[in-house]
Amino acid sequence: MEYDIPEILRSQKSFFNQGHTLDVGKRIEKLKLLKQVIEKRETAICDALYKDFKKPTFESVLTETSFILLELKSILKSLKTWTKPQKVTSSFLNFPSSDYIYSEPYGNCLIIAPWNYPFQLAISPIIGAIAAGNTVILKPSELSSNTSQVLSEILKEVFEPAWVQVILGGVSISEKLLAQKWDYIFFTGSVGVGKIVAKAAAPHLTPTTLELGGKNPCIIHSSAKIGLAAKRIVWGKYINAGQTCIAPDYILVDASIKTPLIEALKKEITAAYGTDPRSSSDYARIINDKNFQRLEDLIKNETCIAGGTTDVLDRYIAPTIIDEPTRESKIMEDEIFGPLLPVISYTSETEIETIINSYEKPLALYIFSEKKAFTEKILKKFSFGGGAINDVVVQVANKNLPFGGVGNSGMGAYHHKYSFDIFSHKKSICRRATWLDVPLRYAPYKNKLPLIKKLLS
Ligand code: NAD
Repeated sequence: MEYDIPEILRSQKSFFNQGHTLDVGKRIEKLKLLKQVIEKRETAICDALYKDFKKPTFESVLTETSFILLELKSILKSLKTWTKPQKVTSSFLNFPSSDYIYSEPYGNCLIIAPWNYPFQLAISPIIGAIAAGNTVILKPSELSSNTSQVLSEILKEVFEPAWVQVILGGVSISEKLLAQKWDYIFFTGSVGVGKIVAKAAAPHLTPTTLELGGKNPCIIHSSAKIGLAAKRIVWGKYINAGQTCIAPDYILVDASIKTPLIEALKKEITAAYGTDPRSSSDYARIINDKNFQRLEDLIKNETCIAGGTTDVLDRYIAPTIIDEPTRESKIMEDEIFGPLLPVISYTSETEIETIINSYEKPLALYIFSEKKAFTEKILKKFSFGGGAINDVVVQVANKNLPFGGVGNSGMGAYHHKYSFDIFSHKKSICRRATWLDVPLRYAPYKNKLPLIKKLLS
């Protein structure tokens, strides 16, 4: 389909400039309708996700539709309050005054989404953008084309195109969109494309949120409860067939507990997916041939101590554990983004530090330990987007925690109130009273210096 992108943007600009999105009641009405349409079309969404990469319905409901419905419910509950000017304590220097923060929408937003949680990662930022009063053009991923189609239908049913419009296509469409002047760009995807987005935003100084990836370490301390750690890691690593930006990328385990940990991981893989995960209806597939090939290449020269089997026709890669890859091996170069789990043992905390510091700041970091002093030390030592202690991935489930990266894993954080805030410019207003005008600040300054110094000290 051919899109006249400048024309679509012009109509969104005019819609925004006419103030249609400023009416909070209308925003609420639209978000309520969005919730209803998602509820009504939940089966269609899950079917599309299944067609795209055999995502199990349970995982689709847990991580895509229900996740979004909860987000909508909580935002709808609070939106009226958030949109009101927020009163803050006034400064005595401005006495008498009353001071406020006004949340104003940026305007026309571009949202570019990836394929791995194709529904959640497209709709979640849209909710924030609409709640804050913006218009949106969404470019979902071309790789999850079935979900992108459903997204397009749902958004068409809820919003007029001047408010929200979906533009389907791949890199060339994305490039055309990025060539326009936006008031805000929200991008979720790879680090490499994140840099392209940042470059495109720079000439217009367009504010951007970049939700990127990284190599997420999962540290298993000698004090960890091994069985529980293995159960939780297997769930978080192999959900979505490992194609999760906050999945543990590799394990760093205290050498003294490596063998029992590996045994426990193997046991949990079988408990979750049976002895032949290919026949399990609870295990997803790799999104496309290119990613399948990339992942297959990563295991070629490695020691697979669980899994390691693949089927190109089905784009199936078994839940795999890789024993002690070298630091130079390909699998330890970049984010894996698939169901391959390297296990590396450490004998000192210095080794942990050397390995983690050899990568850019990750999106997530996980620690399994019963020793608070150890977890606190790790939390303070390393910079990363967010994480969990004695679990993986679950930090994303708490709406009160901001979700985002740092450094190479991204900038800006969202979800719930953070989504509203990230799509709002915070306008600071000092409302001065006129019944009194303290003359101290005005020239001539003669003899006023000692008093101002005293007041400011
Ligand atoms: P990607 O960067 O290849 O693509 C993301 C989007 O950008 C797609 O819509 C795509 O069409 C577009 N795109 C691709 N190449 C482009 C180019 N050259 N110019 C302009 N646009 C382009 O990412 P992906 O493969 O869809 O997703 C996987 C990556 O996303 C992983 O690195 C993962 O860690 C990251 N991710 C991050 C988060 C997060 O919340 N931080 C969530 C999910 C995925």
